[in-house]
Amino acid sequence: MRDILPPESGRWRRFTSAFADVVEAAGYEQLVPPLLEDVGVFTRIGEATDVVTKEMYDFVDSGNRHVALRPELTASVCRSFAQHRPTLPWKVFYSGSMFRYERPQRGRYRQFDQVGLEALGVDDPMLDVEVIALGWEFYRRLGLQQVRLIVNSLGEPTDRARYVEALRTYFEAAGDALSEQSRATLEKNPLRVLDSKREGDQALVAAAPQIADYYSVEAAEHFAQVTAGLDALGIAYVIDPKLVRGLDYYRRTIFEFQGGTLDSAQNALGGGGRYDGLVEALGGPSTPGIGFALGVDRTLLACDDEGCFAAEPVVLDAFVVDVVGGLEAAKITAELRAGGLTADRAFDQRSMKAQMKLANRSGAQSAIIVGDSELDSDTVTVKPLGPGEQFVVARTELVDVLTERRNPSPNRKLETQ
Ligand code: AMP
Repeated sequence: MRDILPPESGRWRRFTSAFADVVEAAGYEQLVPPLLEDVGVFTRIGEATDVVTKEMYDFVDSGNRHVALRPELTASVCRSFAQHRPTLPWKVFYSGSMFRYERPQRGRYRQFDQVGLEALGVDDPMLDVEVIALGWEFYRRLGLQQVRLIVNSLGEPTDRARYVEALRTYFEAAGDALSEQSRATLEKNPLRVLDSKREGDQALVAAAPQIADYYSVEAAEHFAQVTAGLDALGIAYVIDPKLVRGLDYYRRTIFEFQGGTLDSAQNALGGGGRYDGLVEALGGPSTPGIGFALGVDRTLLACDDEGCFAAEPVVLDAFVVDVVGGLEAAKITAELRAGGLTADRAFDQRSMKAQMKLANRSGAQSAIIVGDSELDSDTVTVKPLGPGEQFVVARTELVDVLTERRNPSPNRKLETQ
């Protein structure tokens, strides 16, 4: 678990608001679920997923409840839906920290952040298209150029079940040719064997039965409409019949956004899919749902690699240097901040020289100096901390003068030319 320090932390906040801008424009509203849930909410995600069996931070609280820190938010959103029964469709987004006891490495942490959205109550493949398109648009807004979209369909639950059995039979027949780890995975979840990155498994995985051969007419039609919708929006994608995704609750459409610059073990920037049975499993009415979660930490690594959406330090308009006791700096910074400007100051009644050093280090546009003569004449000296000569202005005009320095008006520019 890490501290996110400034200026990186400011970039995190801008990231979350950029996401909110994109999805609020499509009618999604923010849901703020709790960090802790009854452990049963998450075990519904799937008994065969590592997220639940190995990585959960769960404990018994003082009220003897078995609770867990959320490892993801789709289950919490479905629990919330089952509890409050909002009107349909329910389109919500979220952001915040998730917790998984994983082996930490670059792009993989025990506390990490996600932004995501979920849309409940609509079965239409055009909703799948909307959801994927919103993720795509968000990456575009960040300036990422190398994100690849991978899509697949897991079919209807019955298609998926037949396919899982076919995979089981196929991999069991391979016997020892399959790696020991994959044989262990096979016992729990044959689909996950397709995820195997082990060299020795590759030929077997490549020749394994394909999910598309098990689609029902409805599942094939749903998927065809999703891909036609993506085509119509000009969104480039690759169909990968081996994409299964980590969590057990998916059915029909699934997708993943992969970063072009990251190692294959960590290149999933985000992903999601349909989970039409999850609300029911959490005690609600049978309700279709689809959503995605995008990893903040990892997406920002991709931004670093691609040189976009950089961290920006806060730029101060003014740094107030008060050599007459410190009260004037309190008043001036308050006036400037109330006037929509950014201002900081020195404390502890330091010497003029020491305060000017701090002003230069702050990166502010201007130092605002108050000495005895300024105090007597109700003025301040504005000293640009870049090029330019210092000048004196009336206190009453300071906000206007600094605002003008920040955004020179086109007319004023013409006048001075
Ligand atoms: P998932 O909920 O497993 O589908 O993950 C969605 C996204 O969350 C991934 O694509 C990653 O970007 C991010 N993510 C998942 N686990 C971690 C982790 N341990 N550390 C950092 N990011 C993660």
